[in-house]
Amino acid sequence: MRVFDLHTDTMMDIANKVGKGEKDILAKYHLQHYKEGEIGGQIFAMWVPKKYEDAADYFLESDATSQELMMRMLARCFKEFRDYDTVKIAYNAEDIERIYESGQIPVLLGFEGFYGFDGELGMIDVMYDLGFRHGMLTWNDDNEFASGVEFTDEDKGLSPLGVETIKRMESLGMLIDVSHASQKTFWDIMDVTTGPIIASHSNAWALCNAPRNLRDEQIRAIAERGGVIGMNGWKGFICEDMETATVHDLARHARYIADLVGPEYVACGFDFSNYFDPTEGTPGIENAGKSQNFVQALFDVGFSEKEVQAIAWDNALRVIKEVLG
Ligand SMILES: [Zn+2]
Repeated sequence: MRVFDLHTDTMMDIANKVGKGEKDILAKYHLQHYKEGEIGGQIFAMWVPKKYEDAADYFLESDATSQELMMRMLARCFKEFRDYDTVKIAYNAEDIERIYESGQIPVLLGFEGFYGFDGELGMIDVMYDLGFRHGMLTWNDDNEFASGVEFTDEDKGLSPLGVETIKRMESLGMLIDVSHASQKTFWDIMDVTTGPIIASHSNAWALCNAPRNLRDEQIRAIAERGGVIGMNGWKGFICEDMETATVHDLARHARYIADLVGPEYVACGFDFSNYFDPTEGTPGIENAGKSQNFVQALFDVGFSEKEVQAIAWDNALRVIKEVLG
């Protein structure tokens, strides 16, 4: 059964390996997994760190600023997309279906934190024109736009710049993502928007009290707006004793959210990190090639065929269609 994955860090992997002199990274390292896991579409979210030290394990360049890393990542990824016909950039739901039918993998481009924006509101228009259709204002830390879940001193929520940026994203028609938002940022975003909001890669806090997971009232707020929540396969967000986590525990998060608000608000946002650290994987859902194990686990926790199909694909596409057209 085809799966839409709302969150992957693949662009960072491309940028790193291209920086080391490799090429055709998607075909060499990712395509086989996408095929085995029946990954039919994805959001490629671009993350660059606020400070290089936060990402010394992931990035080749030890001296680069966030802005420099962002430019290098853009350049390397766009060249890979152009030179190798593995994925195709999609701009809306119709593109996703058309590219999928043609046998390629459609990707929506997104941002995981606006650290490379140098506090400039106009960057959101620049990135929209480059094809980006999704964004989170922050990663875990805070920046000029908002507080992330691990804010430094105080949870400030959205700054005035953050408010303007979120409003601009909504008027342009971009997916607004709260997966890394602090509590105050989350509710500020709800206050200044009216359309669907997504949490691309977060689970239920009631089952695992990691700060990146969603409280019941947040889950209800996302559902009331017709948004969607992508189930995150990283073990630290599945079980409080992370070493016990399996794909079946992940399916329990889907079951919990569906029981709280309905299955139409659950989706997939696996957040695979196997290409950075192969030991990080959760048993049963170690990499994109294992995505069908999650589909099976959804049946095991009592979802019907139609509900599983909705969680795997239709719910994500419903929100993408509503926001992007
Ligand atoms: Zn993330």
